[in-house]
Amino acid sequence: MFYLGCHLSCSNGFETMGKTALEIGANTFQFFTRNPRGSQAKRIDPQDAQRLRNLLETHSFAPILAHAPYTINPASSDLRTRQFALDVLADDLSRMEYLPGNLYNFHPGSHTGQGSEAGIRLVTEALNEVLTPYQHTTVLLETMAGKGTEIGQSFEELKRILDGVKLNGKLGVCLDTCHVHDAGYSLAILDGTLAEFDKQIGLKYLKAIHLNDSLNPRGSHKDRHAPIGAGKIGAKTFERIINHPVLKDLPFCLETPQDLAGYKREIAFLRGLYHS
Ligand code: FE
Ligand code: FE
Ligand code: ZN
Repeated sequence: MFYLGCHLSCSNGFETMGKTALEIGANTFQFFTRNPRGSQAKRIDPQDAQRLRNLLETHSFAPILAHAPYTINPASSDLRTRQFALDVLADDLSRMEYLPGNLYNFHPGSHTGQGSEAGIRLVTEALNEVLTPYQHTTVLLETMAGKGTEIGQSFEELKRILDGVKLNGKLGVCLDTCHVHDAGYSLAILDGTLAEFDKQIGLKYLKAIHLNDSLNPRGSHKDRHAPIGAGKIGAKTFERIINHPVLKDLPFCLETPQDLAGYKREIAFLRGLYHS
């Protein structure tokens, strides 16, 4: 089954996102748990959450992705910044229980000059703090482009975080195509990159794909997303990604610079490239 969607705004509530997804041909989607730049989270309407759960079930959606705000940094050298990240992560995970069985994706963070060793240790500690055996959400570490002092640009760094987390059965990885390309991995040599992922992390941890083309060449560490086919990765490679036997049943989510009409076109385009 081809599960494909895009990033949607949550400002009109949960059920509205589900309806919008249906209108644009999506059967999964992603949303920010709160304003990506701010911190205030809207109060959850349990009935609205239940209506979305019904819609997702009726229309056989794949798990959906909630995305943490990018402003949190659990790997910061600053204690208050780390405490804020812990508060947001814990609060988001408790809110996710209104939508059980889905995915919560976050950027591991930036070590802000302490070195990746220290950053990895802090992210590990944060996850050991916020994960609970009772949660119904899988928390995904996103592969990063390696901009600035970002950690998680190599599969090995992500593996070290997974190894340090006690409840790592609650964890997974979201592979962002723009980010891994910008980090230096080749998507043109897809089998090689997936073999490397399997060797370092294990493919069983791969739970979702962010589908983005990249404005910049491989290894540039820039993180500038482009529409599918309008960047350096190219449509041909995306055709191979969505049809690859180990990827083809995962939820794919676009985070390309598009409005809703653009996403609808991009979804239709990619559906046309999928060899059912
Ligand atoms: Fe992200
Ligand atoms: Fe992403
Ligand atoms: Zn990005």
